[in-house]
Amino acid sequence: MDSSSADSFNIRDFLRLDMFPHFLCPGCGHGIAMRALLWAIYELEIPKDKLAIVSGIGCSGRIGAYIDANTFHVTHGRPLSFASGLALARPDLNVIVITGDGDCLAIGGNHMIHACRRNLNMTCMMLNNEVYGMTGGQASPTTSEARYTTTSQSGCIEPVFDACALATAAGASFVGREVTIHLPDLKDLLRQGLAHKGFSFIEVLSDCTEVFGRKNNLGESPEMILSQKSRMRPSSYGSVDGNIVDEPFRANTLPTGILSRNERPEYGDTYRKHAADIRALKSGK
Ligand code: SF4
Repeated sequence: MDSSSADSFNIRDFLRLDMFPHFLCPGCGHGIAMRALLWAIYELEIPKDKLAIVSGIGCSGRIGAYIDANTFHVTHGRPLSFASGLALARPDLNVIVITGDGDCLAIGGNHMIHACRRNLNMTCMMLNNEVYGMTGGQASPTTSEARYTTTSQSGCIEPVFDACALATAAGASFVGREVTIHLPDLKDLLRQGLAHKGFSFIEVLSDCTEVFGRKNNLGESPEMILSQKSRMRPSSYGSVDGNIVDEPFRANTLPTGILSRNERPEYGDTYRKHAADIRALKSGK
């Protein structure tokens, strides 16, 4: 697929149009993230019947319903555990998890670290909007310090999770981060994550205009995504031939792009070989 895919990609070909109008608030970043994901799927030419989308609870989880593929909307915090069984039983499928910061890092935090550790072949797109949007705007594990939410009325006092650092430490073999304003870069990152054999964790900084933005007086969507962009820096910034030579950026910025990547055995392959060895042992062959 060449660079002209921006012209030939038609998102309508990948949507369940009978589900529209969608429920997202005007300016919500989740729609941009969905577009990037579907664009990456289009470029990789993944057939719909080989695509399995698993989503959890929250605004992020609802967008799976609009995708014309095999979709599963599962219980809160459990999309990665459900997807693990699916990826193990059906290695022929491209399994994608769409989750949010609350779904993935709070109630689903345990499943997240073990999915990273096992390295099953799937891609997890975590939409980080710093809040539980659908359930009324409660603080999540990624709510920035001093931000107002319905459960932090005088400003959040809890430190935040760096989801990508957590995923890397837990063993995810592909980890990346992007902001929705960088749509082609986000598409490229998702494309590389989808093509990677193993567990890919991709954090997308997405704006919640209606609940988080309004409560914190952050403006409309353009102001919010420009603010997010100003807090990011490319992971290659300051590098020459892959070596970081300088880091003249502000202390509070987060890196974007591919943050860590390694090749190691995929869990499904290891499991199936192990099972075959046990069967052979039992049958005396
Ligand atoms: S509540 Fe926030 S995250 Fe949910 S759809 Fe509205 S803007 Fe998007």
